[in-house]
Amino acid sequence: MTWILPPPPQPFLYVAGQSDLFAVRRIWCVGRNYAAHALEMGSDPTREPPFFFAKPGDAIVPALPDGAVTVHYPPKTANLHHEIELVVAIGTGGRNIPHMDALRHVFGYAVGLDLTRRDLQAAAKKLAQPWEMAKGFDASAPCSALLPADRWPDHSARIELDVNGQRRQEAALSEMIWPVADVIAHLSLYVSLEPGDLIFTGTPEGVAALVPGDVAVACVTGLPELTVRIAASEAP
Ligand code: MN
Repeated sequence: MTWILPPPPQPFLYVAGQSDLFAVRRIWCVGRNYAAHALEMGSDPTREPPFFFAKPGDAIVPALPDGAVTVHYPPKTANLHHEIELVVAIGTGGRNIPHMDALRHVFGYAVGLDLTRRDLQAAAKKLAQPWEMAKGFDASAPCSALLPADRWPDHSARIELDVNGQRRQEAALSEMIWPVADVIAHLSLYVSLEPGDLIFTGTPEGVAALVPGDVAVACVTGLPELTVRIAASEAP
């Protein structure tokens, strides 16, 4: 048997300290996992728990360890927002994963940007439409190299995003409403998690616009850094 068309390229992330690549399967995302961000988006974190949405696996833009990636300003938006997030890479799959076992399913951690066409998201919210065109567009998930979990023991690390040298977003990971183990346990109730799945675990407050020429530096203490340059729109 052969394929009618060549199989598509396999999305991947680099892994710090080794040459083997991590094959990416799906990208799950957590919405409103920091109270201050939920408030800035106009919702009430005491009444609405975090929730899930997704991006296509090939939205990933992989950075070499401490390397920069370039993302072209996407079409159909005039308000592209940055959302810095801790990214969890699933190494061992499962469903209905107990909270106490959840971290054993993690291969490693990275820092990523959940790039968002905020104007399209606002329009979708108003019309009670899905978020895919606001969240799941091409190159909407630039991500650092992964650090294997056993090399990153400090889950109380800080998460910080600078744009053109100015601090935009900053929090402690301990501010997450659902910590990583909760995220994995909850998500595995809805879908069978599989090796290669990534989970973007939500963004702290301070989301704001990126424009062509901006350089965003995303950092979680102890993880490989991510630098994203926003280039002009691609020619049609
Ligand atoms: Mn997000």
